[in-house]
Amino acid sequence: MKCPACTNTELEFRDIDVGLGAGVCSNCKGRWVSLESYHAWLEFADHRPATEVEENMTEPVTKYDKARICPRCRRILTKYKIAVESPLKIDRCSNCAGAWLDAADWAALKSMKFHAALDRIFTDHWQNSISREETRQTLTAIYKRKFGPENFERVREFKKWVFDQENHEELLSYIRDRNPLQL
Ligand SMILES: [Zn+2]
Ligand SMILES: [Zn+2]
Repeated sequence: MKCPACTNTELEFRDIDVGLGAGVCSNCKGRWVSLESYHAWLEFADHRPATEVEENMTEPVTKYDKARICPRCRRILTKYKIAVESPLKIDRCSNCAGAWLDAADWAALKSMKFHAALDRIFTDHWQNSISREETRQTLTAIYKRKFGPENFERVREFKKWVFDQENHEELLSYIRDRNPLQL
């Protein structure tokens, strides 16, 4: 199997964590984790000592912009975000469900305590909730710019209060009418 990032380097099989075998690229230090070896590791992960097998990957990683191809089935890998606040993205094959981790990704997943959650990260539910949260943050930023941060907070609180009231439609009509008391 060839490295999906460097394309010409042969992957070498070795453990990247206790009980987790992967195809490792000697050039970019990225790793290919098959679904089978990940699940085998998951089953035993809880029973094994949490010691890091390999050296810490702190060297800068070359970023590859072109689409990566699954080393096993030659399909284009899909990028998955891990969390809203993290720039980390993991490539995954939709056919064989193997994952490509760049050199520092496994350590980053472990530091976020998501290393045992890859199955959940790759679900629509997880990905959709990230998209929704990103949209929410983008819209919040837009309204904060439009109204100013203080006014935005005031109007947001007030709006929440209005919609918490049973007669919120009446309250809204009252607000909407410039001269509700006919003065
Ligand atoms: Zn490589
Ligand atoms: Zn594949």
